[in-house]
Formats: sequence, structure tokens, C-alpha cells
Amino acid sequence: MAAYEYETHDYDVVVVGAGGAGLRATLGMAEQGLRTACVTKVFPTRSHTVAAQGGIAASLSNMGPDSWQWHMYDTVKGSDWLGDTDAMEYLAREAPKAVYELEHYGVPFSRTEQGKIYQRPFGGHTTEFGEGPPVQRTCAAADRTGHAILHTLYGQSLKHNAEFFIEYFALDLIMQDGRCTGVVAWKLDDGTIHVFNAKMTVLATGGYGRAYFSATSAHTCTGDGNGMVARAGLPLQDMEFVQFHPTGIYGSGCLITEGARGEGGYLTNSNGERFMERYAPTYKDLASRDVVSRCMTMEIREGRGVGEHGDHIHLHLNHLPPETLALRLPGISESARIFAGVDLHKEPIPVLPTVHYNMGGIPTNYFGEVLNPTPGNPDAVFPGLMAVGEAGCASVHGANRLGSNSLIDLVVFGRAAAIRAGEIVSPNEFQPAVPKGQIDQILGRFDAMRHANGAIPTPELRLEMQKTMQADAAVFRTDKTLAEGVEKMTAIAGKMADLKVTDRSLIWNSDLMETLELANLMPNALTTIVAAEARKESRGAHAHEDYPNRDDENWRVHSLAWVDGTKVTLGNRPVHLDPLTTHAEGGIDLKKIAPKARVY
Ligand code: FAD
Repeated sequence: MAAYEYETHDYDVVVVGAGGAGLRATLGMAEQGLRTACVTKVFPTRSHTVAAQGGIAASLSNMGPDSWQWHMYDTVKGSDWLGDTDAMEYLAREAPKAVYELEHYGVPFSRTEQGKIYQRPFGGHTTEFGEGPPVQRTCAAADRTGHAILHTLYGQSLKHNAEFFIEYFALDLIMQDGRCTGVVAWKLDDGTIHVFNAKMTVLATGGYGRAYFSATSAHTCTGDGNGMVARAGLPLQDMEFVQFHPTGIYGSGCLITEGARGEGGYLTNSNGERFMERYAPTYKDLASRDVVSRCMTMEIREGRGVGEHGDHIHLHLNHLPPETLALRLPGISESARIFAGVDLHKEPIPVLPTVHYNMGGIPTNYFGEVLNPTPGNPDAVFPGLMAVGEAGCASVHGANRLGSNSLIDLVVFGRAAAIRAGEIVSPNEFQPAVPKGQIDQILGRFDAMRHANGAIPTPELRLEMQKTMQADAAVFRTDKTLAEGVEKMTAIAGKMADLKVTDRSLIWNSDLMETLELANLMPNALTTIVAAEARKESRGAHAHEDYPNRDDENWRVHSLAWVDGTKVTLGNRPVHLDPLTTHAEGGIDLKKIAPKARVY
């Protein structure tokens, strides 16, 4: 192995990732005077959160009556009763506070006539515990909400002296004596290696949409944090639950926000029928995402798809007033023109369900502390390590996430992680020692990838993985497709040993970086398909044709998956059923959130 020099940086906290979750955690840590480094492979405001269009959910009641209990109920139902009740209560309760904080930090929210934060309807968000009309709960900055949040949080973090290490690629976690003590990173522009030695490490590395062929997520969404956790011998949770968004633009996968349907858009089949009225008579086009995606897929399968091949659906916005489109959805008009070649003032947009969000990830409690479940203690905390945002699984989204509940998850749990770190990390404590042997091991793996000299180019193996996941772990799943998928994915993961990297340089080496990303995507893909094959029921985004019903008796449990090379070992953790406060204390009535059939 080549000898690598490295520079060591001592911090109280190192946050890996500068999307909405990473920046909110960084800001919260720095505000409390913790010496905080934020390490990110892309410039902070280019993180994938920048693409979030529609908005952020919080029961502000600016557009009509709302309550955190209704928000919590919708989240529980949206999760198809797989989310952890304590975490879902924390999310819904803290959401208004977290949004007002964003407002005070400077997020330029759209406004009502009265000057309040504008809120729009989103799928699955209702009133009166699902008995009343849809609610306008999603706070929006036009259709550029993520962009506005990222710019504001980055500016605020700089103001509080957080230190940014931009275009540094985190390779692996440093683990010693049963705790995490930082991360090793490769600086992309000069090839140097950096050890971030910290009392607390926070993973905020986002989702792994790019394990699939067609995804709304950026090419950077490669589940790096999940990969690092899996390599460290810790489990991933609920990986089988992958959300397909109903309205990816046909052909490109580029997203048309659910806010478009929130503003009055609707779907039609080849007969021109508004088919969602048939499947979801109450909430129609604003039913939950998994429901709308399945209904679209059924219309296409039954021969009522549109287009030359009858393989997609139409989204109509052409009936909406041009002022609404210009004011509320300016970015969508541009996306429709560039990616579908349509003028949405005149024609419908061709759309198709597209991979969008990972409900599963690194298991945490509702303070972001990473769990290392043992048979005697399913909620055991792994010291020194936190995970927030799409990389984490708190779990508030369970088997299906409601639209606009991710951005609020980022800021509520980014903030919660900072609050917890403030309690357990002391600036006066000694820094952990840097374990040279372990750093050498991490760099040994890096060096082996750099010099990989097998037969398969990285893009070829990545494509094989993406096509397999797209075909065999899709909107509808069967015993047969899943069993075949597990077999194929195990073989594909086995080919990692035969990769070929052609560029050996350490500077701006995209071949090596994509190979490291593929090594991270692989455990994500493998655990997704293995856990999906094992779950013999249908719940939320996991629609199993051989087991069409939800089975609460046997399957209302979180699945856990440990990875060792191509081998995945499964286990489970009980779902938290107890809320944080009782009904008598002003909390939710447990009878309201008892499992029942999930209809919209
Ligand atoms: P990201 O924003 O993906 O950030 C990940 C960070 O980790 C980046 O800074 C990256 O540089 C860093 N990173 C990753 N790996 C490494 C590594 N190895 N080394 C160093 N750094 C690393 N949700 C809503 O609630 N409302 C919406 O309107 C909405 N719209 C969406 C629109 C689109 C098109 C998509 C795809 C999603 C949308 N979502 C929405 C979901 C939401 O945007 C994401 O779930 C969320 O932004 C994820 O944020 P994050 O902070 O967890 O990760």
C-alpha cells in the first residue's frame, strides 16, 4: 500500500453532510459554543435539499384550523402504523417552533395577504383526524423551499463560526473501544487525507435514491453514511421501504412537486378520466404518495396509460390561472418545458412514479443518537454517533413518508441532535486519541479501491445494480421478483471484488470517487431487496402482491439488517407504541391512532 500522510483536526463535533439536516445540526452545535466542523462532498447549497420544491409541514393554522395532534395523526396513518409514536409526537409538536426559527433565521417564506407564512395542501395532510377536509399545512417559499432553507442555514452557520470543509469525501468512521471518535476524509481538489477527531460524529449524508435507475434524487445521493455504518458492523433499519413519487417527468425522472396537485392539478388516464376519484373518493389526487403511485401503476397495467406505448399518465395544470402558476409554481413551468418539452399552460405533463425517498436508514432515537440494538436492549445507544435527515431513521415516516414531512424532519431532528449534544459533549473534555492502526485500515481499503485492477468498469456494475433494483424492488413486488432480485443483487455485490479503476490519481479523480460511492450504494441496495423479500405483508410503500394485506400481528416491527460483504443478516426491533405525553397531559388520544384500514 502507498504511504498516506494525514492531517489531524480536533473538534467537539464533526457533522458529515451540509444538506438541510447537516446544516441545522451544525448551526445548533455551533450556537452552543461547541467547536464544530461540517464536512461535505459538495458545496453546502448544492446539497440535494436544494431540489426540495413544495414545502415544509407544520400546523401553524395560518390558512384555517389545524393542530399538532392532527399532524401527528396524519403522520401515523401515512407511516401505515410503522413509525415510532414518541418520535412522531416530537416531530408534530416541535414543527411549528422549528419553522418559526427558520423564519427568524431569515427563510423568505411566501406570504398570505395578512403577511403570514403561506401554506398549501399536500397529500395525506387532513383535518379532524382524517375525518375533515384537506388542510393547508405545508409552508412554502414558492416552489424553491429547500433552496431558501439551505442558503439561510449556511449563512447562519458561518455567522456562528462553524468551520466548513467543502469537497471533502468522508471515507469511513473511526471506531475505537465501542464508540465513534470521528471520520477520515479525502480532500478532492488536492488529494490530501484528513482525520477529523471528534467527541461526537453526526451523519447527515442523505438518501440512496441512486441505487435505482430512475430517481428524482441527485447523482450525489449514494447513501454514503449508511454504507459507513454498515461497514462498521452496525445495522440499517426498514430498508425495504422506498418511496416512489407519483409525478416524476416521464423519461427524465425530474420531479413535479406534489404542491402542483396541492394547487389544483389532477391526473388523467388515456380515457381522460380523473381516475383518482375512483380509488380515493375523499382525498382524490391528494391521497398519500404510495396510494397514488400504485393507482397510476394499476391504470397503466390495465391498458389505460397515455402516450405511444401507453406507459405513463397525464398531470394537468393547464386549467390553473397563469397568475397561480407564475406565483406559486414558477420552477415547475421551467422543468416541464426543459424536461418534457411541454407548455404546461396549454398541455398536460407526462408523468410516471419515480424513486424519491428512503424511509429506512440508520436507526436512531428521537434525539438522533444511533442505536445498536441488542437482544436485551433494542434501544441501546451507540456512543459518539448520531444520524439525522434522510440518512437516519428516527422513525417518523415508518413505511411511507408524507410529502413535506422530510424538510420538517431535517430541521426538527437536526435541532434535537444539537440539543442532545449540548447535554453530553463537553468542550473541556479531553480529545480522544487517534487510533493509528484503524486509520491505516481505512486508508488500506481506500488504496485498494484506488488500485482496483479487475475486469469491470464502475459504471457498468452500477448500471447492473440500478436496473436490477428498478425491475425487482419496484412499486409492486412478488415473492418471485424479490427472490430473483436477491439472487441477482447478491451476485452483483460479489462483483465488487472485480472492479477496475483506471485513474490512479488522488486529485479530482471522479472514477475513484464513483467507485467509493458504488461501494456505499451496494449495502443499501442489498439490504433493501433482502429485507423486502423477507417481509411477507403489504404496508405503505412495500406493496407485495402475494400478501396484499397489512399484518400487524406479525409484521408491525422494524426490520434490521447487518451486512458483511454479500451476506445480509436480518433481525427486528419493536415499534415504539407509547407517545411522550398522555391524553390527560394534552397529548393525543391513543384510541385516535390505533391501527385501522388505511383509506383516503
Ligand atoms: P441532502 O440534502 O441529500 O444532503 C446530503 C449531504 O451529505 C450533502 O451535503 C453531501 O455533500 C453530504 N455527503 C454525502 N455523502 C458524503 C460523503 N461521503 N462525504 C462528505 N459529505 C457527504 N421533502 C419535503 O419535505 N418537501 C419537499 O418539498 C421536498 N421536495 C423534494 C423534491 C425532490 C426533487 C426530491 C428528490 C426530494 C424532495 N423532498 C422534499 C425530500 C427532501 O428534499 C430530502 O429528503 C432532504 O432534502 C434530504 O436532506 P438531507 O439533509 O438528509 O440530505
